[in-house]
Amino acid sequence: MRQRLLILVPLGLTLLGLIVTGLLVACRPTLAPTPAAPPAAPTLPPQSVVPEPTAGPADPFTVAREAMVREQIAARDVRDEAVLAAMRRTPRHRFVPPEYLAAAYEDHPLPIGYGQTISQPYIVALMTEAIRVKPSDRVLEIGAGSGYQAAILAELGCQVFTVEIIPELARQAEARLRDLGYGQVAVLAADGYYGWPEHAPFDAIIVTAAPDHLPQPLGSQLKEGGRLIIPIGPQGAVQTLWLFEKHGGQLEAANLGGVLFVPLTGKGH
Ligand code: SAH
Repeated sequence: MRQRLLILVPLGLTLLGLIVTGLLVACRPTLAPTPAAPPAAPTLPPQSVVPEPTAGPADPFTVAREAMVREQIAARDVRDEAVLAAMRRTPRHRFVPPEYLAAAYEDHPLPIGYGQTISQPYIVALMTEAIRVKPSDRVLEIGAGSGYQAAILAELGCQVFTVEIIPELARQAEARLRDLGYGQVAVLAADGYYGWPEHAPFDAIIVTAAPDHLPQPLGSQLKEGGRLIIPIGPQGAVQTLWLFEKHGGQLEAANLGGVLFVPLTGKGH
């Protein structure tokens, strides 16, 4: 038993070391402390503690998802109700490999093969909220990966165009999104550095892999008034999450804090 434990611990640490996509690494000043448990309310009538009908007590994934949104996302600083509802509805466990099923709703990224990862739930929610999308917006994603971020945007009613450089991941994401009924997501296997000019301009652009500069084609494919969110920085070290907004043809930048993403690869870079 002790021998097995000794082997498992370093293995776990190595795995954590490999997982980097979309992990918030620095506490942002706006990060709200997790609220303390509310005091017991003995005066409340018993029916007020009946679980919400959406909690689906028979489905452990639904329960885990509710807890994920409550404890990892709403308890931090994501307030947009539409984003929280999309995170509650989207079956994240369908986007992770079977061996990580039990960890699908945990507070960190997970491997999806080919050296890539599905982002931490909190960072997906944070980035989605930051680009302030509304139904029928045209949104470009660079780095489809598992397709999870694209599904969240589709849940918000957006028309999603997502580009993935690894053809096998693009194929898998496309099949998964189709099987789950996300028909309004278009997947392209290509180098996302160049965006997707045939479908430009976009109301919002979300980049889920980190280049060391802002790819010029992405800025050009953003609509006036549009939002572009992107991690920029060195490979394997802390990068900065930037939110750009286009006003008068110019991009205005806001620093959203430190993050860890896999690198943007490809010839364009
Ligand atoms: N958004 C994904 C996670 C992103 S992982 C999800 O929800 O699961 C980052 C992804 O970006 C990887 O799949 C990686 O292959 C892809 N990527 C890296 N460089 C790219 C490029 N130049 N163009 C398109 N995709 C790229």
